[in-house]
Amino acid sequence: MNKTLVALTLGLLLGGCQSAPAGIASHPGERAFHYMAELSSPSEGIGARPTTTEAESRTAEWLSNRLTSWGYPVRQLPFDYTDKAGAAQHSRNIEITLPGKSSQIIVVGAHYDSKGAEKGSLGTTDNASGVAALLASAEALRGETLPYTVRMVFFGAEENGVNGSKAYVAALSADELANILAMVNYDTIAGGDILYVHSAHSDVKEYKCSDPARYRFDPKVRDRLLSLSQQGGMTPYQQHVGFPGYPAGETGGWSDHAPFACAGIAVASVEATNFTINGEEGYDGYSQTNNTALWDCYDSATQSACHRKGESQWGKIWHTRFDRLDRLLPLFPGRLEQQLADGTQLMMRYLRDPAL
Ligand SMILES: [Zn+2]
Repeated sequence: MNKTLVALTLGLLLGGCQSAPAGIASHPGERAFHYMAELSSPSEGIGARPTTTEAESRTAEWLSNRLTSWGYPVRQLPFDYTDKAGAAQHSRNIEITLPGKSSQIIVVGAHYDSKGAEKGSLGTTDNASGVAALLASAEALRGETLPYTVRMVFFGAEENGVNGSKAYVAALSADELANILAMVNYDTIAGGDILYVHSAHSDVKEYKCSDPARYRFDPKVRDRLLSLSQQGGMTPYQQHVGFPGYPAGETGGWSDHAPFACAGIAVASVEATNFTINGEEGYDGYSQTNNTALWDCYDSATQSACHRKGESQWGKIWHTRFDRLDRLLPLFPGRLEQQLADGTQLMMRYLRDPAL
């Protein structure tokens, strides 16, 4: 699909992007889809947002402007870090606060940088999807007083070592830390075949924390999100089944929930993938779809590659040429719209009734 056609399709789907919430685009889920398109389509807005690039900082600007236009005071949280190659780098987190009856805090977060631009990825699902669902939630919750104070954080520099969330947690005071009751991470909440909520891992060793004594495994945030998703009006989210090294419903420390778990906070992480596929490294959730267009050859009998040695694609969307709207929309008709609506709805339900 070419750019003009995508723009046309989006225009039809969304009834015009720039104008205010009216008609078809007024539903939070539809607004989320629109923000995902703006963030990840060069024809609509930004496009690829590779870590450490000008596009990453332009995205932070874009987020700040959007949040400011809704009346939220925006905190800019710049940070320095050393990347995996040892080079000094700079990025920033963007934070807003949603008022709550209690001064105790729930943190919700999503990273806005992307990976795989050299392969054609525009970071639509990873992670414009998570950012978009949080944005649409913030927009819809304007003027509401929630049960708990909510800090919504858009993290930079996740893709080269969860640097934004590490810096965010490192900057928290002891008082603030003691006041944070829960953290929910949205990373790649659309694209994959099945919607999951994970807790941290019951084995502290999986998280490589600098101070393992502070680590906390508490599945209560996951369990609340799962139960809220089962109350009708949306697709029920699932726990992945257990596989060697990963008990059912538990995930590793590779995204922005990890520094919070290491600081003793109960976390959950939401993602769309497919743990029933026997992928390149087994049942680890890295193969996101059994859609045969994303495999050299998929064998539905074994739920794996026909030829494990020769397979080059493994049903992966993230960081590949498939992670862009113009490829995803025809491959998965209706899916992204539904998943964005579900992710947005789930976040709003949780913030209104976290049962902490
Ligand atoms: Zn990601």
